[in-house]
Amino acid sequence: MDILKSCPTIARCVGSEVKPTNIVKVNNFSVGGNRVLIIAGPCSVRDEQSFFENIKQTQRAGADIMRGGAFKPRTNPASFQGLENGAIEIIRKAKKHFNMGYACEVTGETRFPVNQYTLPLSKELADEITSKKIDVLNAVTQVADLPWIGSRNGQSYDFIQSLAIKAITLDKPIMLKRGYWMTLGEYCMALEYVARLGCQVIACLRGVNTDTKYRFMPDISDIAEIKARTTVPVIVDPSHMAGNWQYVEELAKEAIFAGADGLIIETSLEREKELSDKDQAITPDDLFKIVEFTRETENSR
Ligand code: PEP
Ligand code: MN
Repeated sequence: MDILKSCPTIARCVGSEVKPTNIVKVNNFSVGGNRVLIIAGPCSVRDEQSFFENIKQTQRAGADIMRGGAFKPRTNPASFQGLENGAIEIIRKAKKHFNMGYACEVTGETRFPVNQYTLPLSKELADEITSKKIDVLNAVTQVADLPWIGSRNGQSYDFIQSLAIKAITLDKPIMLKRGYWMTLGEYCMALEYVARLGCQVIACLRGVNTDTKYRFMPDISDIAEIKARTTVPVIVDPSHMAGNWQYVEELAKEAIFAGADGLIIETSLEREKELSDKDQAITPDDLFKIVEFTRETENSR
């Protein structure tokens, strides 16, 4: 791909000019400089008590920004879909309590509260649910300091632009996760969709489709590719690459060596009780080891 032609806004080299990596502000943190941003917390918020206990220890382990999904994108429609607006309230409290920023996926512009209804929907219930549409875009962007587009929406261009425009109005950056089927060229053009609007954007590599011991093939080598060709900072998600807590630490370390500007990691105090992605959650103690390694390494890269 001719990066300059396809992605003029994010291209690193323009003629003889070599642009520096964009420094993106997330709360008080700068992403894209020396210091690696650590985002951590549960995959999804399941209740207030477990979320507070998790974030307390995750923050102590060195996390800069918390995560914990409110509206979840699930492959199986019968799986837990998130506490939705209930989670937003818990997060509001947690942000104050821990004085911490929050990063979260925005799954779409709207959602219907389908799980509060008996399925299949009759015409009457469909009429009723229509009036109960949840404004997910507003709900999440109000509370999230780093709203993000999830992997499954990697090429939902209209939605990507909706979030980017919303983020500009709120003076917030967004993160765009790579769709797990997307080539590097396709992914760079998706990043260009955001950057050309004037919205600050952070890339997130979270693995691509495969059939190995990992849940997704770790696209670690693309960290350097994106950084060489574009000015976009890169956050790496070793949790979704791994799919298993036992591989998270090694992938996180590889990402740091490869030049990642940040890590986003799923943590849990009681893995078995998590309602999404329980197999890949690490303990705050294991997160501490990763943070320690990161802080020792980041300045000498
Ligand atoms: C997540 O971060 O919990 C998530 C659903 O990630 P992805 O969009 O990369 O699958
Ligand atoms: Mn997850």
